[in-house]
Amino acid sequence: MSETDVAPASTFSGQPLVDVVAVVGVGLIGGSFAAALRQAGAATTILGAGRRPQTLAQARRLGLIDEAVTLEEAARRADLILLSVPVGATESVLAAMAPHLRPTTLLTDAGSTKADVERAARSALGDRIGQFLPGHPIAGAEASGPEASRADLYNKRVVVLTPLPENSESQQSLLRRVWEACGARVVSMQPDTHDTALASVSHMPHFLASVFMAQVAGAADSDQRMALAGTGFRDFTRIAAGSPEMWRDIFLANRKAMLDELAQFRALLDRAEQSLHDEDGQGLYDFLERAALARRLWGSRSRS
Ligand code: NAP
Repeated sequence: MSETDVAPASTFSGQPLVDVVAVVGVGLIGGSFAAALRQAGAATTILGAGRRPQTLAQARRLGLIDEAVTLEEAARRADLILLSVPVGATESVLAAMAPHLRPTTLLTDAGSTKADVERAARSALGDRIGQFLPGHPIAGAEASGPEASRADLYNKRVVVLTPLPENSESQQSLLRRVWEACGARVVSMQPDTHDTALASVSHMPHFLASVFMAQVAGAADSDQRMALAGTGFRDFTRIAAGSPEMWRDIFLANRKAMLDELAQFRALLDRAEQSLHDEDGQGLYDFLERAALARRLWGSRSRS
């Protein structure tokens, strides 16, 4: 995003749903949330809090946030707070804000794992847990930081909410409308259902692409290999360029589901390797055909 892509703070095209929004962690996900809310006119003021002052200053320059504030100030002033920090930071960020929160403030998050985020929130917020409604936008990119933010990142993308028994209908309705104002489609599910599915279709692809990239980069003739690499290599490894901090936290947070997936993947890999070893052309063909059909079917469904 260039510094002119976001409308200035005073320009609102719609009816604000929330007065003061605070984004904690104004990187790709938090910055895009701020930009989308701004574009929709869904918030009157957007505060930004985080770790390094340089990041917040950049977010301010880009017009993503109106003001950089401390966690304490964000907790005191905001009506809605989005945590968009690596999932391993959830507990410490919530614990720092907890004593300063107003009772009516709604907190949510964008973390890629949900069961551990709920555990962290329960530990940090105690009897204020009803103020936290976990979420995960299924949208992203391998780029990070505020400059990677895009107002259309959530357009036509799914946002998963994993409401807690302590959340009210009105909190769920508000958060749903906020994400819809960003262009997203909102679905609700149990955290474990979310984590098991995402381990398979998001976390595993990243793990495998990174292992593969490390293997190629570690070869004695890696320069030669990469000079000859084409679009297949580019597509297969694109996601390996993602933030190591963010992905480390996701893998650790979803460790059990990841280990289950890895065991199943390894079993299939062993079978495919056996077909190759045995020069079993029919076995290889059958497995390639199943994969190709499944991928083509998914491709046509995801476009419709
Ligand atoms: P990002 O661009 O790296 O942004 C993360 C932000 O969090 C940075 O501004 C960073 O500040 C801040 N931060 C890190 N640790 C912090 C701490 N302890 N306290 C306060 N701020 C802290 O990452 P992202 O891609 O936006 O991801 C944010 C969250 O969204 C993660 O939980 C991730 O799992 C989730 N998510 C990511 C994607 C994706 O594809 N990227 C998709 C969906 C959900 P500094 O700049 O100062 O370091």
